[in-house]
Amino acid sequence: MKRIRKYWPPIMILIIFETVAVTLWLTKNNLFYLFNFSYIGLSISLGMFLFIRKYKHARRIVQLLVGLYMLVYLGLICNENMQIEGFWYYFFTGVFEAATIHYAVAKIFGPLIFGRGWCGYACWTAMVLDFLPYKVPEQPRKKIGWIRYITFTLSLAFVAALFLAKVGKMESIMFWAFIIGNAVYYIVGIALAFAFRDNRAFCKYICPITVFLKPMSYFSLIRIQCKTDLCVHCGKCRRVCPMDVDVTDNSRKRENGTDCILCMECVKSCPKNAL
Ligand code: SF4
Ligand code: SF4
Ligand code: SF4
Repeated sequence: MKRIRKYWPPIMILIIFETVAVTLWLTKNNLFYLFNFSYIGLSISLGMFLFIRKYKHARRIVQLLVGLYMLVYLGLICNENMQIEGFWYYFFTGVFEAATIHYAVAKIFGPLIFGRGWCGYACWTAMVLDFLPYKVPEQPRKKIGWIRYITFTLSLAFVAALFLAKVGKMESIMFWAFIIGNAVYYIVGIALAFAFRDNRAFCKYICPITVFLKPMSYFSLIRIQCKTDLCVHCGKCRRVCPMDVDVTDNSRKRENGTDCILCMECVKSCPKNAL
């Protein structure tokens, strides 16, 4: 029984995703939602299962399964703009479809449960950035996080301007915005990673989606907790953290707490099993 109990988290995640899949399938009368959320739920559950089995590339497998599916299948083949511009587009048209559902589940309300799990396990931008050599930042954090508000505003202004100008062929524009937007993200993300010697520099300073993700994940149900009675203050957890989180502080206001991507590197590295 004890052996089965440790697999409860992946089973629970699968049940949650299947509930969303079936609910959306039936309410929207669209089989796509059943396939989409079942696939994502299965991928995440598989990753959690592999992590429990101590397979060291578990997170990377989920990143590739979900990230490639979203980028190649939903983005390039199905022509869905899943970036923030796509969210604004559907938001302005008043349609609760594709990007709006994706944002609601992964980036706005979902983080109340699983925090920045999206950033650790599903984002197709980070899927590439995590292959770069600076898995742990080699320089102190810069105070330029305000740039995210500029990129956020620009994305909103871009789509609002298209609507105000009553531009035609919006579907085609949004598709090309997705292609060009992704290319820009990859170029800027890779350049910043090398400039700041930090794979996740783009996530820390530029990504507009963090304007949603950070405040919502502040209240996250799932978070890494420190058993302070076991901790010997060796500092190893902080040294391996890609996001500079002070995970030994259990308060919600802990340093860079809303940047935790639940990658579990700190948990794996703690010599006292305190996390
Ligand atoms: S911060 Fe942005 S780019 Fe980085 S993982 Fe999250 S959504 Fe992706
Ligand atoms: S690695 Fe473990 S023991 Fe060391 S500071 Fe972090 S929580 Fe404490
Ligand atoms: S190493 Fe730990 S604290 Fe840092 S992002 Fe990963 S899970 Fe969060």
